[in-house]
Amino acid sequence: MSEFLDQAILLRSIPYRETSCILHLLTARDGRLSLLVRGVRKKKSVFRSELAPLHLLSLRWKKGRSDLGYVQELHRLKPLLSEENYLDALKLNSLAYVLFPEREPMSMSLLCEAYALLEQRRSGLLVAVWYLLAKHGWLGELHHCWHCMAEDSPLLWSQASCCCQACGQGMVLSKGLCLSIEFSMRGDNIRLSHAYTLNWMQMIQDILAQHGLKRLNFE
Ligand SMILES: [Zn+2]
Repeated sequence: MSEFLDQAILLRSIPYRETSCILHLLTARDGRLSLLVRGVRKKKSVFRSELAPLHLLSLRWKKGRSDLGYVQELHRLKPLLSEENYLDALKLNSLAYVLFPEREPMSMSLLCEAYALLEQRRSGLLVAVWYLLAKHGWLGELHHCWHCMAEDSPLLWSQASCCCQACGQGMVLSKGLCLSIEFSMRGDNIRLSHAYTLNWMQMIQDILAQHGLKRLNFE
């Protein structure tokens, strides 16, 4: 049966039977994969110390007889971000888990880019989440209506989308807020006001809710 070598990021691990786990991984070659790792919860398992989220892992796995493949070898290569950002990065992992379909090879590089944004930018978590949502096709630029492309002013925030006054009703999106988000995404080193930060968080929560996803904890 075929064997594969790959690099991966662990998104989550779910206990399976007595001593095993099912891992949900993003891999460089195959995108999101679920693999069984046998015996990992035994004290003497060689995998135990190697399994860590937020690290680049090297992986050798094999296709099983059923759909589920299994891990044959796994090593921790290096941390992908600094420890002070681990908590926020785990939020990106849970978002990645629900956003990326299985077997979409781009997924791992998108998540790595989101980690980099989290590390480098002011309001890093907001920027990283907005980036993932944009890459997923759930949002557009904030200078035109997402429905009819009209460049009205002011634009409105209505049902998790930016729209013109003909396409919806809702909160007015101030020019200042739109530019602040745009500059933050572009990497200009601006400090968001508290009010804009709250607005931006709410827009993200609206988009997640619109797609039936859990709210993100920005605390
Ligand atoms: Zn419109």
